[in-house]
Amino acid sequence: MTRLPAEVDVAIIGGGPAGLSAAAELKRLGVASVLVLERDSEAGGVPRLCGHSPFGFREFHRPMFGPAFARALVARAREAGADIRPATTVTSLGPGPRLTVTSDEGVAEIAARAVLVATGAREASRAERLIGGSKPGGVMVTGALQGLVYGAGARPFRRPLILGTELVSFSAILTCRHASIRPVAMVEPSERIVARAPSGLLPQVLGIPLYLATDIAEIRGGERVEAVVLATATGDVTIETDGVVVTGRFRPESTLARLGGLEIDTHTGGPSVDTCGRSSEPGFYAAGNILRPVETAGRCWEEGRAVARAIARDLAAPAADRGATVTLAEGPLRYVMPQRLSSDGPPALNELQLRADRPARGRLSLRAEGREILGHKVSVRPERRIRIPLPAGNYPVQVVFEEEP
Ligand SMILES: Cc1cc2nc3c(=O)[nH]c(=O)nc-3n(C[C@H](O)[C@H](O)[C@H](O)COP(=O)(O)OP(=O)(O)OC[C@H]3O[C@@H](n4cnc5c(N)ncnc54)[C@H](O)[C@@H]3O)c2cc1C
Repeated sequence: MTRLPAEVDVAIIGGGPAGLSAAAELKRLGVASVLVLERDSEAGGVPRLCGHSPFGFREFHRPMFGPAFARALVARAREAGADIRPATTVTSLGPGPRLTVTSDEGVAEIAARAVLVATGAREASRAERLIGGSKPGGVMVTGALQGLVYGAGARPFRRPLILGTELVSFSAILTCRHASIRPVAMVEPSERIVARAPSGLLPQVLGIPLYLATDIAEIRGGERVEAVVLATATGDVTIETDGVVVTGRFRPESTLARLGGLEIDTHTGGPSVDTCGRSSEPGFYAAGNILRPVETAGRCWEEGRAVARAIARDLAAPAADRGATVTLAEGPLRYVMPQRLSSDGPPALNELQLRADRPARGRLSLRAEGREILGHKVSVRPERRIRIPLPAGNYPVQVVFEEEP
């Protein structure tokens, strides 16, 4: 492989669905040099180690397993002419834009006319979920489990407990089945399964006991997990198990962006962007799951392509408008993204995406200068998509949720 270039038109940080689709689209639009920097040993992002379906409907019009989907995305970007560099980690961002990267070549500086940050999201760890008890081996997030099972062909435990019921939690069950691992229980702190039906039927079909309104009070064990104490509505229950898969509660992988000076939205945890994916810093854009936790691969892929079109336009004629703000009033809503409306070019992110913290019913409205410009009654639940069409003009708006008593 040739040495890393010192200058490129567009540098893309992260070779997942968002980064790879952006790379292919930028090349298709005639951008001369597009460099994808990926810290893993291969590009492809999270799907690379998701040995299950469904991926690929939107992109390749057929159901695919994660690894085949990831390979197809890489092939498409390479065929389009993008330069993809695995095992290359971006360690800092600076004005210019400029990047510092580490790879087999050592430390290098790259100057780019534009940078797309597409570093994805990650699940909350045991420490972030404040689970008490001892610290035995065998506690991991789904991504790590998939790395061991699909990546290394390992079987890290035989009868783990699964914490969480988001979509990814069912992916953890499928991963376990692939390695003939039989989960002893699935545990959900809220009163309902978080993922949409029919995923919730999976534990029932597979005979995995489901504990709702239950959390892990304590993990016990020495070298390995031996038991988990569950706090249920009717008291503590101890379950013997040899592992714990801590699933979901994704957070954007935004440390690099934050340290690089990009404004971070405290609600999404990702960079604040306008409707074209432009961050607060000139020349820096973002797409995919770094924008908000969390979307499917197909949606991240679509976002990468759309933001690539905005980048190509800006390379030809830089945007001047910083965009009007979109803010969120107090209430059950957790975030709104994008955080700014831009009138510089057609939107790449063509709707307001919202999520709720808790189940609620009420009136969801968009207001400008205190006046409702759009609104309807809704019922919201955590981890379900909530969308609002973009308002027609370019003026500050506020998203308001008036809860029914
Ligand atoms: C366990 C699991 C199962 C899933 N199952 C499905 C499914 O069945 N169907 C579906 O549609 N979606 C599924 N998803 C969601 C899907 O994988 C994501 O929506 C998608 O991968 C997001 O794409 P992305 O490009 O935004 O980020 P990612 O795929 O996370 O890619 C980001 C990339 O950035 C790289 N990176 C991060 N920091 C740096 C850095 N500093 N320097 C260089 N590179 C860096 C990472 O290594 C990674 O490769 C699943 C997710 C998980 C975790």
